[in-house]
Amino acid sequence: MDCLFCKIAAGEIPSNKLYEDQWMTAFYDIDPQAPVHFLVIPKQHIGSVSEINADNSQVVARIFERIAILAKELGLTDGYRVVTNIGAAAGQTVPHLHFHVLAGRNLGWPPG
Ligand code: AMP
Ligand code: ZN
Repeated sequence: MDCLFCKIAAGEIPSNKLYEDQWMTAFYDIDPQAPVHFLVIPKQHIGSVSEINADNSQVVARIFERIAILAKELGLTDGYRVVTNIGAAAGQTVPHLHFHVLAGRNLGWPPG
């Protein structure tokens, strides 16, 4: 499948990697929207949240466990945001499940 994030997960396209294990890869966003902006993706192709189900949801729990650890390691004590976009109208541009982690500035609410 011709999927950018599958290729990043497989190491076929380089990324500025923060963390990797058998389940997931975390890497810095190429177009950061905050002083800290990284993405966490499952290695397995899942299109978006709308494709999460009982057979593949374990990786999502593992991703959130890891986000908590990475946020502590990066010292994000002033708060951070975890965002995932589903579909074009929500701003999803890469059709492989990814969680944005943003921090380092006042993020504002509601999002634009
Ligand atoms: P979304 O718009 O929610 O689908 O998020 C996709 C994100 O992937 C955007 O924030 C892009 O800047 C980011 N992105 C696209 N290509 C790359 C890449 N090769 N390496 C790192 N981040 C990327
Ligand atoms: Zn993919």
